[in-house]
Amino acid sequence: MALLSTTDFPLTIEKCDGFSHGRIDLHSHTHCSDGSLSPQTLIDRAVNYQIDVLAITDHDTLAGIDIAQRYINEQNVPITLISGIEISTAWQGFEIHIVGHNFDKDNVHLQQLITEQQQAREQRAITIGEKLKQCGFPNAYEDAKKLAGEGSITRAHFAKVLFQQGHVSTMQKAFDKYLGKKGRNTQKAYVKPNWCSIEQAIEAIHSAGGSAVMAHPIRYDLSAKWLRRLIVHFKECSGDGLEIVLPQMNPQQRQTMLNYCLEYDLHASTGSDFHHPNNKWSDLGRNLTLPDGAKPVWALWS
Ligand code: AMP
Ligand code: MN
Ligand code: MN
Ligand code: MN
Repeated sequence: MALLSTTDFPLTIEKCDGFSHGRIDLHSHTHCSDGSLSPQTLIDRAVNYQIDVLAITDHDTLAGIDIAQRYINEQNVPITLISGIEISTAWQGFEIHIVGHNFDKDNVHLQQLITEQQQAREQRAITIGEKLKQCGFPNAYEDAKKLAGEGSITRAHFAKVLFQQGHVSTMQKAFDKYLGKKGRNTQKAYVKPNWCSIEQAIEAIHSAGGSAVMAHPIRYDLSAKWLRRLIVHFKECSGDGLEIVLPQMNPQQRQTMLNYCLEYDLHASTGSDFHHPNNKWSDLGRNLTLPDGAKPVWALWS
């Protein structure tokens, strides 16, 4: 796929302002990882929500992008699709997500990294399955694998299995009781993943000609001191920007994130992190306007 430049956009992105559903959304998931919609249905929904520019950013896979682009071409859908990915990385015992945008999907370096990440996912899933077996759920791995199909297997699949089988009352409880990690506290079926480093993820995205932003910095449960350390490290690894706008962030959080961008000369990205249509608070394009003074990440795409 050819790389996009800013001149390819049919609109001035500043026009996002004032829309109840913004017109650019650079973070979304399909059933190729832990989202629930097919790439085609996601595209239909984005068009209904008047989104002009969408990035599909599935966890450690590019599988949804070609399917969505083919559908756009065949149906002549009025939307610009940006190549995207959300790469899981390990840093100081934390799992940090790096989102890549607007890269060459066929780049060998990026594909090699994705192959390794998929192996790490599969290995971790097997071990999670063994731990859940010890908790009294003998077929969790097989059931999660069935749910994931050919897509990336994630902890969200295990959470859904435990929920559907009535072992927990919500998916969140599956994380709280079995799959999650809070601070240094790990739950019964938590398995330390073998993800790549932040530096490796950024390198692979850059070698494919894309830009790399740190996903949802506010969601890592880090103290201000540790968040700053993370941002400094990200910058040292040549990261390009921070995702400073997510639907559920309040104005104070947006301002804090903008200040980090200004202080460390980082660009800003915006995205809903859409997974499921029943969660209206993180629906596609919702409340995604970048604050004044932010340098948008798409300014890098020329
Ligand atoms: P994984 O990348 O396999 O570790 O799966 C994590 C995914 O599970 C995230 O991308 C979220 O979409 C989802 N998730 C839902 N609730 C939680 C939670 N409490 N902690 C971590 N992940 C969660
Ligand atoms: Mn997810
Ligand atoms: Mn994420
Ligand atoms: Mn995401």
